[in-house]
Amino acid sequence: MSSANIKSISHFIGNHSTNGESSRFQDVFNPATGLVTAQVALATASDVDAAVAAAQAAFPGWADTSPIRRSRLMFKFLNLLNTHKDELAHAITLEHGKVFSDAKGEVERGIDIVEFACGIPQLLKGDFTDQVSTGMDNWTLRQPLGVVAGVTPFNFPVMVPMWMFPLAIATGNTFVLKPSPIDPTASLLIADLMKQAGFPTGVFNVVQGDKEAVDALLNHPDVKAISFVGSTPIANYIYETGARHGKRVQALGGAKNHMLVMPDADIDKTVDALIGAAYGSAGERCMAISVAVLVGDVAEKIIPLLIERTKALKIKNGIEPDAEMGPIVSKAALQRITDYIASGITEGAELLVDGRSHTVEGHEHGFWLGGTLFDNVTADMRIYKEEIFGPVLACVRVKDFAEGVKLINAHEFGNGVSCFTRDGNVAREFGRRIQVGMVGINVPIPVPMAWHGFGGWKKSLFGDTHAYGEEGVRFYTKQKSIMQRWPESIEKGAEFAMPTAK
Ligand code: NAD
Repeated sequence: MSSANIKSISHFIGNHSTNGESSRFQDVFNPATGLVTAQVALATASDVDAAVAAAQAAFPGWADTSPIRRSRLMFKFLNLLNTHKDELAHAITLEHGKVFSDAKGEVERGIDIVEFACGIPQLLKGDFTDQVSTGMDNWTLRQPLGVVAGVTPFNFPVMVPMWMFPLAIATGNTFVLKPSPIDPTASLLIADLMKQAGFPTGVFNVVQGDKEAVDALLNHPDVKAISFVGSTPIANYIYETGARHGKRVQALGGAKNHMLVMPDADIDKTVDALIGAAYGSAGERCMAISVAVLVGDVAEKIIPLLIERTKALKIKNGIEPDAEMGPIVSKAALQRITDYIASGITEGAELLVDGRSHTVEGHEHGFWLGGTLFDNVTADMRIYKEEIFGPVLACVRVKDFAEGVKLINAHEFGNGVSCFTRDGNVAREFGRRIQVGMVGINVPIPVPMAWHGFGGWKKSLFGDTHAYGEEGVRFYTKQKSIMQRWPESIEKGAEFAMPTAK
């Protein structure tokens, strides 16, 4: 049972907050103070059943609601989100630790998708061919799947769920969200805003929980599709298990994002970009830059500036207005990252800035780590091959553009990548040859806008469609083709040959 004097964070099923049958709870921390602030209920399979049943009951009515009426509710939700932006960002900072301005940016990027989903009547327009055969028409439409689920990571508790449910719901599905138990409060704020917007009971549900809840969703016959975002081993598991149960699955995994820096790049702007992209959100972004690939002599110009800027990062409680980087999300994550730093030293990388002794006055129990910078990292080291997911930047030196591209293409992850250069042809070649799903040219974190869709290649995505954008609309709908004629156009007599256009 949850202890009486500490806030309990529950599920949201059928428009009500409930702890259901949950008897297991997990502590929720403020990573800046290291203190427990709440306990989150962990759903049982019967809690998941209840959420899916609520969503299943809502589905027929919601699927039959006209797209324009669904869109009008989405507009109401959009207005509420804009009014409650700060409240959402505040909740993110208190449980995730990222700085408030960054949390607000996350909320804004989630709102972009809601704006896109408001245009659903246009996005769901089908195709029509008049007279495919004499007296016969053929048209194509897209219909919702049913109950669909989203399983999301700790690092974007507002934005990543919004990559999923606005489009899933706007296209006529009903939704069960299983957020990360590390920072669950935002999911309930969202649920409350969905309720205030007037979405019918059961259209949007939240089950808090861990593997038990996820497995119950994967096994549930009424869940028709699962969207997942998280680490690669779990993404792989979700993809395989979901597919085995006949579900549609999109499972976005981990990353190791490189920035290739050409000798002609603007040095000061490249350093700004690297510092922001490596240490923003303490490197806990799937699009964070964790490897700088320095071409030719550019390393000599960049490295001294990186050392200076990494040491000068303002690392403090993310709620303070001048904080540039907050704490690491959890004690376990802090331990994992410091283990990687130790392994980098053992494997022979050169540690230029060591963040391990960073402390913050008045926050002695927080999960702190300073920016960490390695040089002379090579492709055989664990700190190069594996995702660290923390404020650790590895510099790799290469002789030319071709060697840099080869290195990046050989990596098992292919989420995001960036190239800093002033040469148009280099930029063009890079964009065409690189084996990565999202590419930035002089853009360090190329997260695509709402109408373009988000997704990596290789071990960064399992499945066929990217998240949101028109690919999102396709993921949450199935195509149907209808051919129609009227008795006046039907010729008499049975036809035994394959019908052809007349
Ligand atoms: P995670 O894989 O530990 O957890 C993600 C979700 O899966 C959570 O809801 C969690 O409760 C659930 N889960 C965890 N273990 C499970 C298990 N054994 N069985 C079933 N479900 C399980 O990821 P995280 O630590 O919350 O998030 C960080 C990871 O997410 C990083 O690897 C990061 O790169 C990745 N990420 C990827 C993207 C992307 O778009 N590709 C975006 C954000 C984060």
